[in-house]
Amino acid sequence: MKRPRRKARSAWIDIIFSVAILSLTAFAVFLFMKPTDHQSNASGKKEEHRPVPVIVDQIASNYPGIKIIIETSNDKRTPFAIQYPQSIHSEFNEEVTKYITDIREQYINDSEKKTAKNDDVTGELNIAFETLLHHSGNYSFVLFNSSSFSDDQNGVMEIRSFHLNPETGERFTIADLFAHDLEKLSALSTLLREAIYEDESLKNHLLIDEIHLRTEPSWRNFNNFALTDEALLFYFDPATIAEESVGPAIINIPLDRLKGIISDEYQLPEHQPQNQDTDASNPIDHNGKEGKQSEKVERDDEKVSDDQDSTKDAETPIENVEKKVALTFDDGPDPKVTKQILEVLARHDAKATFFMLGSRVEYYPELAKAVMEAGHELGNHTWNHPDLTKLNADRVRKEIANTSKIIEEVTGEQAKSFRPPYGAVNQSVRAQTDLPVTLWDVDTLDWKHRNANKLLEIVKGNVKDGSTILMHDIHQSTADGLEDVLNYLEAEGYTFVTVSELD
Ligand code: ZN
Repeated sequence: MKRPRRKARSAWIDIIFSVAILSLTAFAVFLFMKPTDHQSNASGKKEEHRPVPVIVDQIASNYPGIKIIIETSNDKRTPFAIQYPQSIHSEFNEEVTKYITDIREQYINDSEKKTAKNDDVTGELNIAFETLLHHSGNYSFVLFNSSSFSDDQNGVMEIRSFHLNPETGERFTIADLFAHDLEKLSALSTLLREAIYEDESLKNHLLIDEIHLRTEPSWRNFNNFALTDEALLFYFDPATIAEESVGPAIINIPLDRLKGIISDEYQLPEHQPQNQDTDASNPIDHNGKEGKQSEKVERDDEKVSDDQDSTKDAETPIENVEKKVALTFDDGPDPKVTKQILEVLARHDAKATFFMLGSRVEYYPELAKAVMEAGHELGNHTWNHPDLTKLNADRVRKEIANTSKIIEEVTGEQAKSFRPPYGAVNQSVRAQTDLPVTLWDVDTLDWKHRNANKLLEIVKGNVKDGSTILMHDIHQSTADGLEDVLNYLEAEGYTFVTVSELD
């Protein structure tokens, strides 16, 4: 009696034992497969995530009045390394710390949402900054903030600038640099666009439509900037003006190009050599910075630039120099507007350059011929006005060659220069033509405001000796406003030359 019972009992024990061994083995296998940081789960209860304390450090910077705050967290899920500047001025300090706090909180929140679904997701957050100094004593701080999570290939990168006069505590803005003047803003917009198109590192990667939106003359488009003794720099987050693959874009406008529009106190320091090859910034060396410095290395040879002229301006009294300006009209010919423009120009005996579209020359051959016979210069503006940087070489060649061909057929004269639509040009576009490429330095934005009075306003605010003025002979307002523009320029002592005469 006892024996069978004992047998039965030992059979139960055997079963329990086997099950126990099996589950232990399974558990051991499970542990072996799982990442090591979850071994603490062997205790059986679900481990609570406990954030580790943040280490805050403070060091002196190389810049008087500025200290660097370093916050580090070695938390497993949400590690971060954050550096930011602080001064003795509380408003500035609060502005910066609010920005930092918002980013840090957003990062922790994002992490919580992700780990609620998947325990294993880990994040990364880095904020580093550069300090750039202007001789006026003003500081620009540029913060590079990048974050990512292990479950997402694409991280986020954002650039944000802060500005401080360390003496007064004043936080200057881009509008302060340009005296809150809208005409100057418009000139800045043009210069920035030009600089973007000239930037070697962005070539073939530009997002043309985005560039036009983000450089429109509105102060908030220019908020992310830094001022040095050589240049004004503008920062764009990745995938804003150029493809994501090229990262953030840093566009450099040499200060000598901003002469006359940037306020006096931010002008070039006197007796400072104006060397465009100098590195525009002297960033503090710090780790974790991913923003690349895109220095302007070369300038477009063909580009109508006032480079030599403007460096001489400092010594040469302007009154003694014969001032020249090139008027240019794009996108025509147009049966009504071009005719009217020809009449206005004839009254002033002014010669201009017309960048024509091949398709319109084909449509209005007599008009194209009339422009030539009136003594104006003809330029090539492609057949259909595409963004050439987005076409393959073969199509680019055809756009340009067919237009040159029809201009010559119809007028008997060759186009003397080439202007790419939207000013969008790169090496492979240039390689498709022998014609010199002509851009502009004064953008009247006539296509946008369609306002005859505004045409004069913008010319007044931006023209200088050697300028090339961009207009369009397809807008009635341009024809209507031209008389005033010519009167003004004559009164200012300008002579009108064609684009090739300006070179
Ligand atoms: Zn055009």
